[in-house]
Amino acid sequence: MAIQKLLIANRGEIALRIHRACHEMGIKTVAVHSTADADAMHVRLADETVCIGPPPATDSYLNIPNIISAAEIVHADAIHPGYGFLSENAQFAEIVESHNIIWVGPKPEHIRTMGDKIEAKRTAAKLGLPLVPGSDGAIASVAQAKKLAAEIGYPVLIKAASGGGGRGMKVVPDEDQLESLMSQAAAEARSAFGDDTVYMEKYLADPRHIEFQVFGDGNGNAIHLGERDCSLQRRHQKVLEEAPSPIISKKERHRMGEIVRNAMAEMGYRGAGTIEFLYENGEFYFIEMNTRLQVEHPVTEMITGMDLVREQIRVASGEGLSCNQDQVHMHGHAIECRINAEDPETFAPSPGLVKNYVAPGGMHVRVDSGLYTGYKVPPYYDSMIGKLIVYGSNRQSCIRRLKRALEEFVVEGMKTTVPLHQKLVRDPEFLEGAYTIKWLEQWLAKEHERSTETV
Ligand code: ADP
Repeated sequence: MAIQKLLIANRGEIALRIHRACHEMGIKTVAVHSTADADAMHVRLADETVCIGPPPATDSYLNIPNIISAAEIVHADAIHPGYGFLSENAQFAEIVESHNIIWVGPKPEHIRTMGDKIEAKRTAAKLGLPLVPGSDGAIASVAQAKKLAAEIGYPVLIKAASGGGGRGMKVVPDEDQLESLMSQAAAEARSAFGDDTVYMEKYLADPRHIEFQVFGDGNGNAIHLGERDCSLQRRHQKVLEEAPSPIISKKERHRMGEIVRNAMAEMGYRGAGTIEFLYENGEFYFIEMNTRLQVEHPVTEMITGMDLVREQIRVASGEGLSCNQDQVHMHGHAIECRINAEDPETFAPSPGLVKNYVAPGGMHVRVDSGLYTGYKVPPYYDSMIGKLIVYGSNRQSCIRRLKRALEEFVVEGMKTTVPLHQKLVRDPEFLEGAYTIKWLEQWLAKEHERSTETV
């Protein structure tokens, strides 16, 4: 069924991103927003707007009855959840579908399976994806944990089955600390997710984070759009992402891409998904699957020329994928810098009034942001205020362009992470592409030392 009017159940840059895709497709948009977001750019641009509650997300962007009521009042025929908030809530997806509204997302049962990390690993194993060695399911007792840890070798990682954002995760260096760290992980998981189920994995010493973008039509056809390297992280939060990864060969991309593609086809997966791996010593290890659009999807769009939101909407309306694997071509290199309203050294949030905003431009430079001069960044939500995405015919030219674009970026009135990116893209190791998931935190510690020495 062709979608005429789509409700965007999100805010910030991703809401604007979805609005743009819809208008290019001739689809009307409905912005639902909290009272704190009445002046947001996507609210200004949407065809219709509905205020769904006060600032706290639990009362607005997570408020299922209000969002469904808004959709009914305006007669929206589809809902796009963006990322975060309700995007991976299987129950919400079911409620949307039970109201005869098109859910622009995967089948609810797949969201549910992949949302439980233990189930996700079991499914991944069945589908032939390589796993990190670890427990087959939950760990029920300390004795069982000890036995297993001795088999896989220390250090091991205790992870929460319902985990997310790195919470409920503990690295256990030796047997003496196993019992106490296991109970800490379980307690953290209970308070964060209301579920204290934990499992065990071998702790990889220094891997890279490499993820594959996949798409399925829900009827057994699937494609992959290559990988993204998201190893540059601070506290498990991605800071800068690139596609392709500087260290994955064409042959490896093809091999792994076919494995994930076949897995998605077999599963009958529908819509956009990301399969995350850790990569160490030439081996991939599945860690989780995200059943939604990712923040970093634009780097894939830049190298493939495909509009992933458009593709999501096509698939949701039953039109199928716009191409098959042979028609997917990857060219050049793209890098995304996440721009946060934060102090670039302490990372303390810095919301407030944007006194002056000038976004960079020029060839192959894209800025996804709802910022404008006079806009007030509300303090209630994530601190990401925009994304700078740059393309080049190869990694070197992409970085040269990125440096130029970062020089042009002006956000006055608050601290942002632009200066952090300006330094990062000049680092010789970054230029070589020689980094792993631990590298950025070590680099930040060194930068901090350097800046305190010069004071
Ligand atoms: P979450 O859903 O909480 O973000 P993930 O399973 O995606 O948890 O892991 C988050 C990050 O933690 C990974 O990107 C990686 O940096 C680190 N990590 C996860 N599993 C392992 C592991 N087995 N060994 C080493 N690091 C890991």
